[in-house]
Amino acid sequence: MKTGVLAVQGAFAEMSAYWRAKGADTFEIRQRRDLERDFDLLALPGGESTVQGKLLNDLGLFGPLKERIEHGLPVFAVCAGLILLADLFKLLPVTVKRNAYGRQLGSFTTVGMWDGHPGTKMTFIRAPAITSVAPNVEVLSTFNGQPTSVKWNNITAFTWHPELQLEKQNHKKY
Ligand code: GLN
Repeated sequence: MKTGVLAVQGAFAEMSAYWRAKGADTFEIRQRRDLERDFDLLALPGGESTVQGKLLNDLGLFGPLKERIEHGLPVFAVCAGLILLADLFKLLPVTVKRNAYGRQLGSFTTVGMWDGHPGTKMTFIRAPAITSVAPNVEVLSTFNGQPTSVKWNNITAFTWHPELQLEKQNHKKY
């Protein structure tokens, strides 16, 4: 599998390492010509969604990426990536509240059920909350009764950081 990791800002190195550890070939998407390469999965890392959104526009990546996602390219999105899909691309029908757990002290780890896997460690870093989801969005995990990861058609998105638990868990799907 070939994974293109958006690498304009944020935790793209961790995301690349995660997919390499799963046996994927990875490359970084930094500019438009990187999209000439073939890839089967787009990984959107955590970071600052406002900065990432601005850079996507400035670098001319927004339109081409949106088109590919609309055409069914599988997407794996973490935190800021989820915010971009919901608020900027408008391709994920959920509403999000940014920095919902506070800014500086808003980072924490909890353990819970992810997609039927109990004991999954979930690290939240200045995470958004998903405050509502459209009817057909599948909820894969929750925290305090709110969805924290979702699946919608070709998109799987997390408010926490699965890529930071590399050695600890071995998700079957991701
Ligand atoms: N707080 C960031 C934002 O609003 C997201 C944090 C993250 O990606 N870990 O974009």
